[in-house]
Amino acid sequence: MLPVNAPEYHPRVVSDAAERREQLKQVYLEASACTRCVLAETRTTVVFGAGNADAGLMFVGEAPGANEDKQGLPFVGQAGRLLDKLLAEIGLERGDVFIANVLKCRPPGNRDPRPQEIESCRDYLHRQVDLIEPAVICTLGNFSTKLLRGDPTGISRLHGRPEVHALGHRAVRIYPIYHPAAALYTPSMLETLRADFARLPELLALGPPPQPEAVEELPEPEEVPEPEALAAAPEPAAAEAEVSADQLGLFE
Ligand code: URA
Repeated sequence: MLPVNAPEYHPRVVSDAAERREQLKQVYLEASACTRCVLAETRTTVVFGAGNADAGLMFVGEAPGANEDKQGLPFVGQAGRLLDKLLAEIGLERGDVFIANVLKCRPPGNRDPRPQEIESCRDYLHRQVDLIEPAVICTLGNFSTKLLRGDPTGISRLHGRPEVHALGHRAVRIYPIYHPAAALYTPSMLETLRADFARLPELLALGPPPQPEAVEELPEPEEVPEPEALAAAPEPAAAEAEVSADQLGLFE
């Protein structure tokens, strides 16, 4: 069975968009060097996700394929072109949304993600959602739908039906739709996907669902470091890596 949306994850309290974007970059830097599962041995690039770091709409696919693995960007192959087309049909483009995947690394031969890989990667997706604060998350296909709904019900029963779920510290509208790759060669599925897409503007117009009461966090007690610990403290996070996140232009 797939791992579900277990609530062990830590909510954050920052809500300023610039600060959230900075924190998202830090998550990106962490994910870029990830070795939490075996996919680290075979990937070329970690595909963290890309788009608007303050998007109201987020898409979550399954896992990078060969093109994504080479370019380090999500949905750049045929399925991605279909996604672009469907977005254009509702007046949106990539820069308006954030696109991510359940897995950040390509499974060899595009095999299905394994439960242990999903579990290892789950925290990155949750932190992305937590920092981007989308009102709507479109789950593309079975893997992301099952993971984010925390339930094994399949996409053919759920597509086109928005539901409000608590994810991290926020409530979000989850909108399951078919995966564009599945719709590429099945005209009837493509028509269903297009019809489900057409309802997105209406759903986005609703804005975020009512949010749970914010829990006020007490500030951490300040710790005075021992003099030796101070001497041994590493340099602050590598400025070099920071630059590379900017250069990739992942977040607008
Ligand atoms: N399929 C996915 O699920 N994600 C991608 O990034 C590309 C294809």
